[in-house]
Amino acid sequence: MKKNDNLEALPESDGLTDDHMPPIEHQAVSGVDLDKIARGVKLILEGIGEDITRPGIEETPLRVAKMYAEICGGLHHNPKEYIKVVPAETHDEMIIVRDITIFSLCEHHLVPFFGQAHIAYIPDHGRIVGLSKLARIADNFSRRPQIQERLTTQIAELLYDGLKARGVMVVIECEHMCMAMRGIRKPGSKTITSAVRGIFRSDPRTRAEAMSLINSSPR
Ligand SMILES: [Zn+2]
Repeated sequence: MKKNDNLEALPESDGLTDDHMPPIEHQAVSGVDLDKIARGVKLILEGIGEDITRPGIEETPLRVAKMYAEICGGLHHNPKEYIKVVPAETHDEMIIVRDITIFSLCEHHLVPFFGQAHIAYIPDHGRIVGLSKLARIADNFSRRPQIQERLTTQIAELLYDGLKARGVMVVIECEHMCMAMRGIRKPGSKTITSAVRGIFRSDPRTRAEAMSLINSSPR
């Protein structure tokens, strides 16, 4: 493995084998190296000038590593597995699940963005998925370093291609902590993105119907 200067600032075998942190087995979550994350967190704390030996903080690197394993767990699941077509009687009307709460991680700053996803689709030949699967797909694509624009199109494309739906529309509204805590510092502002495929793109009335249902009260 290529080393860089920062890592060389740490004792070689460092890992978490010093007094303050017991070695961690490379298990827990498949595909995630908790030990490596914890070392990185330790470097950040040292880098900002923290005393990494003080009691309140000594367990933090491992705690944060486990948190990252959880909030980025979507990287290690293929959301296609949620596309299980339910053989329904012919239902070719619009289906909308709105207000799906999502939490994601801005890939530019590694701070959260969070809000609601709204998913509308019109099936073809009764090819539908269970309603909870729509929420799982949104959750899965959210649980990784992301940008909101890509998150929106990934959900839309998976449903459009996977279901061969007549149309898909995904609208996501999120608050970005990288705009609230730092930079422009505008807490409360929402970023809204949409991705439209198929009939939602070609037929303005269908798109308007979906938008009115998504925006209808109560929220
Ligand atoms: Zn950001």
